[in-house]
Amino acid sequence: MQSTVTITERGESRIRDGHVWVYRADILDVRAAAGDMVRVVGPHGRMLGHALYSDRSQISLRFFSFGDAAADLSLWRQRIEASVAFRTSLAIDATAYRLIHGEADLLPSLVVDRYGDYLVVQALSQAVDRLLPELVRLLVELTNAAGVLARNDPRVRLLEGLDQRVELLHGHVPEQVVVREGRIEYEADLWHGQKTGLFLDQRENRLAAAAYAHGHALDGFSYHGGFALQIARTCTDVIAIDVSDAALDRAQANAARNGVTQVRTWSANVFDDLRRRERAGERFDTIVLDPPAFAKNKASVPKALNGYREINLRALKLLNAGGYLVTCSCSYNVDEALFGQVLHQAALDARAHVTVVEKRMQSRDHPVLLGVPETYYLKCLILRRIA
Ligand code: SAH
Repeated sequence: MQSTVTITERGESRIRDGHVWVYRADILDVRAAAGDMVRVVGPHGRMLGHALYSDRSQISLRFFSFGDAAADLSLWRQRIEASVAFRTSLAIDATAYRLIHGEADLLPSLVVDRYGDYLVVQALSQAVDRLLPELVRLLVELTNAAGVLARNDPRVRLLEGLDQRVELLHGHVPEQVVVREGRIEYEADLWHGQKTGLFLDQRENRLAAAAYAHGHALDGFSYHGGFALQIARTCTDVIAIDVSDAALDRAQANAARNGVTQVRTWSANVFDDLRRRERAGERFDTIVLDPPAFAKNKASVPKALNGYREINLRALKLLNAGGYLVTCSCSYNVDEALFGQVLHQAALDARAHVTVVEKRMQSRDHPVLLGVPETYYLKCLILRRIA
C-alpha cells in the first residue's frame, strides 16, 4: 500500500488556489512515515496528487505532482532538467547563480546553487533529505559538477527534526572558489560563508545599481563588498560598511583581486554610523542599503518596520539632490506594499522629495511562483532624491 494522507476541504482549496503547502491543521488522516512521498486525497477520497510528507514541520505536505501524474524519480529528473535549462536560457552573465529554487521550480524544499564547477545543495525537508543521494546523482549527471557540498546548516531543518550539518556529497570542493559576476570576481567560501557562500539573489540588483551609481558612495551592510565592487567603477569612492570584520577582510581581498582602488571598508553598526555621519555633515551621491531580514516572523514586523524606516530616513538625509538610494528588504513578512509605505514615511521624515526609478526583486534565477507568496521575499527599490 502506498502511503496516503487525507486533507480537509480547506487544504484542498488551498492547493486549488495554486499553493503547494498544506499545514498540519488541515490534515485529517495519515497513513505514512516521516519523509514519505505520499498520495494526497481530499476529504471524500478524491486523488489530488503526490506530496512530500513531514511528521514534524507545521508544513505537513509539499505538493510535488498534481492529479494522477506519477511521482517517481523520472519526474524529479525532468524537473531538474527543466530548472537547469531555464537558467541556461537566461544567459546569465555570471558563473554563480541558483540552479534550483525549491517550490518555484516545483522541487519543493530543494535548493541548489552553482558556483562554477561546484554545486551547493540544501535539503530543507525530511523527504528531500532522504532522497538526497539520488538527487545528487542526478545533479552530477546533468551538470557535470566536479563537487557537491551539502550546506544543510539552515535553522529551518530543525523544524523538520533534521540535524544541521555541512558535508561533502560528491567529488571535491575547495576552501575557496572564485566566481565571476559581470566584470567582477568574488572569492566565495562555500563551506562557511552566509547562505551557500554569496548572496546570489542580489546579483541583478548589484548590476542594476551600477547603472546609476556616481560620486561619493556608501554601501551599507556590505558583506563581501558585493554592491561596493560593482558600483566602484563609476564612483569616486565607496565606503563599504559591515559589523563583521571577517566579511570586510574578504571585501578587501575581493577589491585587491579586481584591482578596484575606490573601495574602503569600515567596521561599524550601520544604524550608529549613518547617524554619526549625518552629525558630521557628510553627504553622498549613492547609498546602498541591503540589511539582513529584520522581520524573521510576523511578530517581529512592527520592530522591523521601525528599523527599515530608521536606516532609510538617515540615508535620505545623507543623500545629495540627484543622488540614488538603492534600498532592499529581504523580509518575506514585509511585503512590497508595506515596504513602500515605510519608504514614503522615511522620505517625509527626511523632508526629501523622492522618485522611484526602478522596482526590482530577487534575480530571475530565484523565480517567484504565483500562488506561493513565500517565494517572493526580496524587494529592491532604486530611488532618486530630486530635492
Ligand atoms: N549586500 C551584500 C549582502 C548583505 S548581507 C551582498 O550583496 O553580497 C547582510 C550583511 O549585514 C551581513 O554581512 C551582516 O554582517 C551585516 N550586518 C547585519 N547587521 C548589521 C548592522 N547593524 N550594521 C552593519 N552590518 C550589519
